[in-house]
Amino acid sequence: MPPRDIDTSRRPFVLVWELTQACELACKHCRAEAQPRRHPDELTTEEGKELLDEARAFGENQLVVLSGGDPLYRDDAVELIEYGVDRGLRMTLTPSGTASLSRERVREVADAGLRRLALSLDGATPEAHDGFRQEAGSFRQTLDAARAARDAGLPLQINTTVCAETVEQLPAIREFVDELDAVLWSVFFLVPVGRGQVLDPVDPARADRVMEWLVDVQADADFGIKTTEAPQYRRVAMQRQRSGTETPDRDGVGRRTGITAGDGFAFVSHTGELYPSGFLPEPAGNVRRDSLVGLYRDSPLFESLRDPDALQGKCGACEFRNVCGGSRSRAYATTGDPLESDPLCPYVPEGYEGPLPDVTPAD
Ligand code: SF4
Repeated sequence: MPPRDIDTSRRPFVLVWELTQACELACKHCRAEAQPRRHPDELTTEEGKELLDEARAFGENQLVVLSGGDPLYRDDAVELIEYGVDRGLRMTLTPSGTASLSRERVREVADAGLRRLALSLDGATPEAHDGFRQEAGSFRQTLDAARAARDAGLPLQINTTVCAETVEQLPAIREFVDELDAVLWSVFFLVPVGRGQVLDPVDPARADRVMEWLVDVQADADFGIKTTEAPQYRRVAMQRQRSGTETPDRDGVGRRTGITAGDGFAFVSHTGELYPSGFLPEPAGNVRRDSLVGLYRDSPLFESLRDPDALQGKCGACEFRNVCGGSRSRAYATTGDPLESDPLCPYVPEGYEGPLPDVTPAD
């Protein structure tokens, strides 16, 4: 079910549940600032099942991403996958590339009915990836798990962070995405929250060049490409199409296919807070006391994020705001206002003479 087929004012296309912030790794970009121990106030197994029941209330085939930290750090992860599958949810998982992600563990989650496994690859060599993940051996363990998924018939997604430290690696990582038969490459443009504040984002002009390159890659690739926290990929693709030098991409860029924080995307934290995204830590409420469906549909925060006319600055003046709208998470991280302009975007709408965003993160 592609995003364009759902009404994102009624339900998210992607509902992420951060099962835990516990993880063996301490990656440089970690939004969750992952900890070695589980938080005592995490949603329990029973609360998690109630959350999955509520997710089902959004409608058939709701996509649920079990995230972390490392979601497999919890020993009820497989039980929760099975529970969601039994209720007709499309369950996916983003485990960490550690020694505990064995071939047997991958087979176990595949047998539980998982629909997709997403693994992070942030470098094309052990030095680059392990340096970023701050864990020797993670590169090899990630590739082993990816091959185990392929052998188990489990569709694979590769997630890659784009920042100054990784951007030169992208062409070589793209080769791995191909070789591993991944179905989707999710390219995340760094938002300076959590540990990610110690990394340098690429500058706006470079970000646009990367997105132009991704449009070219998409034209040839057997896998899909989606950007995360960079909806201006749709603006870049539309500009290429208009120039007549490029083919449309498979997601039909130009239609309202994309999802952004609060508009097709929602994030439940390990303690039950509902955020528009994991990179926009402004809670609309808590699923322990509030209805997940009600918060998504009716909370003022989520409603404002779905209104392109509520956007401020140059995003508010931009003719692409209905197909792009900018990263609300990056606007929040850099200004404290989720409706302000996205500083990663170099585009200035014709005739716009207002202030241009600063790229410095807010305190
Ligand atoms: S100015 Fe804002 S809405 Fe326009 S393309 Fe850039 S990020 Fe998107």
